[in-house]
Amino acid sequence: MEVNFTDKCLEKIKRHSMRGYPSEVCGFLVGEKEGWRVEEVIDSKNVANSKMLFEIGSKKILEVLEKVEESGFKLLGFYHSHPTGSANISERDLKFMKLWPEKLWVILGVNQSGVKEISTYIDEEEVEEVGIEKNSTF
Ligand SMILES: [Zn+2]
Repeated sequence: MEVNFTDKCLEKIKRHSMRGYPSEVCGFLVGEKEGWRVEEVIDSKNVANSKMLFEIGSKKILEVLEKVEESGFKLLGFYHSHPTGSANISERDLKFMKLWPEKLWVILGVNQSGVKEISTYIDEEEVEEVGIEKNSTF
C-alpha cells in the first residue's frame, strides 16, 4: 500500500512543520480513500503547544469532519511533526492510532535546518509503515 500526496499538500505540511518549529504541529489529511490520495490538508492548532506531543481540540475535529463531509472527500488521517528530527512512531502515537483505526498517521521529523524524514503508518489490524508517493497529476 502507498499513500499518494499532491506536491502541494506535501509542501504545505512541510512548511507548517517548519513554521511551528520547535513545537509539534498537527493537522488533517483529506482526500479519496480509493488509492489513498491526499488532496487537501487542513492545519490545526496544537492545543498542547508542546515540543513533545500534540493535541487537537475536539471542537476542531468536529468542524473538520463536517467540512470534509460537505466536500465529498474523506478524512484520511492526521499529520504531525517531531521536532527531534526523527519520524519514528512514539508510544503515545501508537496509543492514539488505536482511537482512529484505518487512518493514516504521517510523521515529519524536523530540526532547525528543515524536514529530515517523513514516515507514514496505518493501523489496519496491526500498525504498519507504508510508503509515500508524490504525484502531481491529480
Ligand atoms: Zn508523534
